[in-house]
Amino acid sequence: MTYDCDILVVGSGAGGGTFAAACARAGKEVLLLERGRLMLADPLNHDEQATLLDKIPYDDRPVVVNGTVRRLYIGGVVGGSTALFGAALLRPSRDDFHPGRHYGRRLPRSLWDWPIDYDILEPYYTQAEQLYGVSGSMDDEFGPLAKPRQGFPRQPMPLHPINQRLAAANRAHGLQPFRLPLAIDPARCQLCPACPGYLCPHQARQSSGLVVERVMADGHRLRLLSYWEAERLERGPAGKVVGVQARDRASGASATFRARRYVLAAGAIGSPVLLLRSGIEGELIGRHYMPHLAPIVVGLFSRSIEAETAFVKQLGFSDYYFGTRTRPEKLGLIQSLPVPGPRMLAQAAPRWLRAGLVGYLRPRMLPLAGIVEDLPQPTNRVDLGPDGQPRLRHRFAPYDWERGRRLTRLMARILRRAGARWCIGKPFPSEEHVAHQCGTLRFGRQPDHAVLDPDCRLFGHPNVFVVDGSFFPTSLGVGPALTIMANALRVADVVVREV
Ligand SMILES: Cc1cc2nc3c(=O)[nH]c(=O)nc-3n(C[C@H](O)[C@H](O)[C@H](O)COP(=O)(O)OP(=O)(O)OC[C@H]3O[C@@H](n4cnc5c(N)ncnc54)[C@H](O)[C@@H]3O)c2cc1C
Repeated sequence: MTYDCDILVVGSGAGGGTFAAACARAGKEVLLLERGRLMLADPLNHDEQATLLDKIPYDDRPVVVNGTVRRLYIGGVVGGSTALFGAALLRPSRDDFHPGRHYGRRLPRSLWDWPIDYDILEPYYTQAEQLYGVSGSMDDEFGPLAKPRQGFPRQPMPLHPINQRLAAANRAHGLQPFRLPLAIDPARCQLCPACPGYLCPHQARQSSGLVVERVMADGHRLRLLSYWEAERLERGPAGKVVGVQARDRASGASATFRARRYVLAAGAIGSPVLLLRSGIEGELIGRHYMPHLAPIVVGLFSRSIEAETAFVKQLGFSDYYFGTRTRPEKLGLIQSLPVPGPRMLAQAAPRWLRAGLVGYLRPRMLPLAGIVEDLPQPTNRVDLGPDGQPRLRHRFAPYDWERGRRLTRLMARILRRAGARWCIGKPFPSEEHVAHQCGTLRFGRQPDHAVLDPDCRLFGHPNVFVVDGSFFPTSLGVGPALTIMANALRVADVVVREV
């Protein structure tokens, strides 16, 4: 058979972009297919422009979510969701790899331990932090979260005055706020208030699109076909895949590409959809979808704190990661969030709140978000509807909601300590917010409880790997991006050795 490349990668997000770059740097010939356009920066970077509300750089596929057709908040350009993400690249806690220690009987025995532990991923976390130029402070305490052994590649940006106040007031109460490790280059950052959710016009916020672009500029054998969609895997004997059928979305032309290894990184919704469309079915494919329960609390101050004029996504609190002294049940991380833009806020605000009042409130607002590790349930799943379109069915379990409510109360307390007079909580942004999607092709030791083996190879299909967020057996209590990147680098070592 003649091959078009050594390794074919589908999807250029946190998993695919990182993986493709690593394999190309290791001397392999890589073809990267991405269904979105090449858009690395966007000068229309503010809420008055349409980008966020109209979801221009977001995935343009309609997905049926719990019976309603929606467009989702996941990246749909080169770089995937990292083109738009909040850039908080956090290592989880060592315990996150042993969920049985905290959830016990709430999880099947097969999920009590991930098939790899933190120490296996540790060197790859370091590599990923270097690759994405993460800024952070080694002087800070991260509580139960793991800290880089060799420090952060970049120093953090100065704290906004309201964050200084938030940190000091909570330190006085015994908490240990820390600066969020961010994949943002402080030398380029213009501290735009609207950061996550938009393409960075200054290329200060790193993305896997930028990582791919750098590798191509360095002359490595990485070929990117943007606006090309992988439609089907062609299957051969002995479970092997022998090609990927893809379509150029601009011209409508189709082609089949052949490689020695096929690596799926189309995201935790996109990758199971591609397998199902290729006739690769299995009881577990697409199940156990997890998006994190992410409660939001907005603190309202009596005077302007000017958080709406600058970058404020800067602080993290891991003090309640494993619950409180009186109730030591895992809750997850709390982190800063930017103040929503005027249009976004007007859309989210109740109707009785007039536009003038929204304008009055914005300078007095400071939001925090929680990240609650939602537990996997087989009924939460991605599959294909009768018309072949992707379908997502999802409900949080009462235990997830209950922990979300507790974290909400603790977030309100943090804001009040800094002077917030009132706090308004929202349990979950909306069903379209699937930014932290994971879990739909989980890895494990045996095919009876997992879809991928510990190397992220598809059981029964020896030349197919998956490196996006689908591989998570549980959702962690921090954002998933750094773990996806680190795991992609780990799997790249396996594939490079094999090819
Ligand atoms: C607004 C926003 C803010 C976020 N903030 C943070 C944060 O601060 N910290 C954090 O840890 N995480 C954050 N996340 C989540 C993080 O970005 C994702 O978890 C991560 O990017 C997922 O990586 P992935 O490789 O699984 O998928 P993605 O990054 O989504 O990449 C999948 C790619 O595959 C492409 N694709 C899909 N189907 C096909 C196909 N058939 N053919 C070809 N290409 C295809 C898609 O277009 C996409 O580019 C955020 C996400 C969003 C949207």
